[in-house]
Amino acid sequence: MAPRSAPAVQPTRTTDLPTQRLDIQSIRAQIPALAQLVNGKPLVYLDSGATSLKPQIVIDALVDYYGGCCANVHRGVHTLSQRATTLLEQARETVQAYIGAPELHECIFVRGVTEGINLVANTWAQRHIGPGDEILITAMEHHSNIVPWQMLCERVGATLKVAPFDTRGVLDMDAFAALLSSRTKLVAAVQVSNALGTINPVVEMVQLAHAVGAKVLLDGAQAVPHGPVNVAALGCDFYVFSGHKVFAPTGIGVLWGRRALLEAGGPWHGGGDMIRRVTFEKSTYAELPALLEAGTPHIAGAIGLGAALRWQSALGLDLIAAHEADLLAYGTRLLEEIDGVRLIGTSPNKAGVLGFVLDGTIGAHPSDVGMLLDQQGVAVRTGHHCAEPVMDFFGIPGTVRASLAVYNNRGDLDALAAGVQKAIRLLS
Ligand code: PMP
Repeated sequence: MAPRSAPAVQPTRTTDLPTQRLDIQSIRAQIPALAQLVNGKPLVYLDSGATSLKPQIVIDALVDYYGGCCANVHRGVHTLSQRATTLLEQARETVQAYIGAPELHECIFVRGVTEGINLVANTWAQRHIGPGDEILITAMEHHSNIVPWQMLCERVGATLKVAPFDTRGVLDMDAFAALLSSRTKLVAAVQVSNALGTINPVVEMVQLAHAVGAKVLLDGAQAVPHGPVNVAALGCDFYVFSGHKVFAPTGIGVLWGRRALLEAGGPWHGGGDMIRRVTFEKSTYAELPALLEAGTPHIAGAIGLGAALRWQSALGLDLIAAHEADLLAYGTRLLEEIDGVRLIGTSPNKAGVLGFVLDGTIGAHPSDVGMLLDQQGVAVRTGHHCAEPVMDFFGIPGTVRASLAVYNNRGDLDALAAGVQKAIRLLS
């Protein structure tokens, strides 16, 4: 698989859309979980922002590992162990090609975005950020890109700065630029907001950050499922994503970082696999990626992630982005036409997320709406989506969030709109 060059999750303008179309029926047929009734209704799954459904090919990869070459990796001389090691390392190669990482050993398997960010906070950042330094995040971060930095700031005496967004959910780039200074050592920002759907201008953000000498970590959790991502083109220094949001198992994800920065961070977890030599007097450490992968990895998860990324890539990442842009526009129109629906997150540059509240439903909480939708077989997420500061900004307890993936179709959004209308009738 050749590295791709497209810069980010794009396109969203209809003029950019490729003319070729995906066969959504055939894609849906590959997702076993879609073939079920929920509360007597065909499942309409609009919660892929929380976790995606899995194609059969990914499930098969897990079954094949556990039922076949189920062995531990890296130190085994026996055949099964060597097979498992080959599969794990092939998955790493898939990841490298998928995100356009310059070096294979820069791709570290972690549990997900949360662990990847904590790893950077406890290694490179812990060693290179000190008293008086600043870390700049945005006001639309997931808690996993807030709390580890707060904890680090407390430990090292640095200050956390926050760039605001406007009422549409668009990042205020003037404020962002003004908050950067020679004190800024790190910018940690979400590429696509899980609460608002906003696609941030990350290439410009990276350039501005680098101009003051800051490193940049991008949270790609909600970007990777929706279209092509290339870390070299983005120009960032660290990139993290979670497998479970991109058709792979839970408990596996990727941290990519520039080799020099990962090496300068040194080890984090100590234990097996991350060492070169251990004595009671002193231990010496292995090279990347082993340096940052202590202990038995999530072997099946990594193999499943490889299968998932190959499956998604074979569909065509640009076609996925175009399909979802069409769904987003369609769903937005449907929801806007419903009296009482207020969309939260209306950036002109958006991906995959339809968040809303129902004005005028007396005392109704988003979770009431979620439960009524569930009765119709429509799965959405409700609440603050681990982005409490975003909800505070809008003065709401949470939103109802429908989030899209490649296997959704317009019928899913028709079902959502019908369910919302029914919920409004019942709650008003
Ligand atoms: N960042 C964003 C933007 C997310 O959407 C999520 C998951 N909702 C995370 C980080 C955390 O991912 P995980 O729980 O897989 O570590």
